[in-house]
Amino acid sequence: GARVTVSDRAAADQLESGLAKIKPHLDTGAIQLSLGEHDESLLDSADILIVNPAVPRPWDNPFINRAKQLCVRLETEIGLAIDLLPQSESRTIAITGSVGKSTTAAMSHHALKILGVPTILGGNIGGSLLDTTIDANTTAVLELSSAMLHWLRETRPDWSPHAAILTGFEPNHLDLHTDEHHYRAAKQYLLDTLAYTPSPHAILGPSVTDWPTPPNATRHTPKPIAEIHPVLPGNHNRTNATLAAAAIHAALGIDLHSATEAAATFPGLPHRLAFAGVRRTKAGQITCYNDSKSTTPGTTTAAVAALRERHNHIWLIAGGADKGTDLSSLATFTDTTLLTIGTTGPAIAAAAASANTPHHQCHTLDAAVAHAAQHAQPNCAILLSPACASWDQFPNYESRGDAFTAALATHLGAPDATPDS
Ligand code: ADP
Repeated sequence: GARVTVSDRAAADQLESGLAKIKPHLDTGAIQLSLGEHDESLLDSADILIVNPAVPRPWDNPFINRAKQLCVRLETEIGLAIDLLPQSESRTIAITGSVGKSTTAAMSHHALKILGVPTILGGNIGGSLLDTTIDANTTAVLELSSAMLHWLRETRPDWSPHAAILTGFEPNHLDLHTDEHHYRAAKQYLLDTLAYTPSPHAILGPSVTDWPTPPNATRHTPKPIAEIHPVLPGNHNRTNATLAAAAIHAALGIDLHSATEAAATFPGLPHRLAFAGVRRTKAGQITCYNDSKSTTPGTTTAAVAALRERHNHIWLIAGGADKGTDLSSLATFTDTTLLTIGTTGPAIAAAAASANTPHHQCHTLDAAVAHAAQHAQPNCAILLSPACASWDQFPNYESRGDAFTAALATHLGAPDATPDS
């Protein structure tokens, strides 16, 4: 029954895919558009302003500040979704951290399903919980970005999950926050909220074991169990599985071993060290991985370390848009040939040349895959893990990952089989 206006500073021709999704509502007149600017006169008749958490530095945004002056109620989608979560018997597991949020959230959700627990997954991972019916027995798993947490602090100061996972912390997203301190404070807020829940649990990843938690919260700093062999490669995924299992055990009282075994069967999310097929060529077996979501040297380091457990040599395709990050650590990998692409390619290649690390400047993803396909050796991996954002050559990381899969098909043909490890 509400009259809805959608406003975006971008013009209609830049918003085609978004507008296509709401076309039926535009056609019936249920949604009006106000594009190309945020017209402050819209606020004169507004009861509620729902802000996309991706709006950078909302405290400096004139439109939002005008709404505050006019006492228009401010909301975000995640705040409204949280209102729908049953508080009584259900348990909510909320997950934040600099990297590993989506993987750990989807892994927790997967494990709960295997364990026969009714569960829903929402938040930053995409989609909306607002059109989901959530009953009292459902365990909600929420991935929360720092931007969402900023807004929850503003709009739901007394909300709290039953278990909070902080996967880890490294400076990031300084475009959305003013500085590292502000970003860190948004992450800390998830732990602080635990003060409002009886007997809550804080599950802290290896790099954040010293982060403070409220006195009523039980702290968990689980160590990755070496005997666990997750379907997803690497120590970082062993850590993700350990954190997910610890949260399930703490929040629901499920046996830790069963929870860990269930988390370890998670097959992974697209573009996050995702298996992209084995090809048997004259040179031997080549295994391909799409880690297009890796946009920092830290996540690329984790991917290379993971594949070293399984492969003799790695053809690492790295480079992309320039965020000013120091990429020299990419030049220090052993048993790896760097194939550089994008704007940062020359700088990575120069660092590799000074470190005497094998490398080849390829400029494009297609040329990099062609080079790896031509020079592949037995039991090698071709890994796209760019350590950089995609926007110099692609609209987003998903299309970069899709272009990688297409280049593999062009230069190596269809995949043969799935690996058995
Ligand atoms: P987020 O949702 O926090 O961005 P994702 O789960 O989408 O994290 O993963 C982003 C990137 O980080 C991927 O390249 C993935 O392989 C890698 N990654 C996942 N978990 C970890 C971890 N615990 N430590 C380091 N890198 C990780």
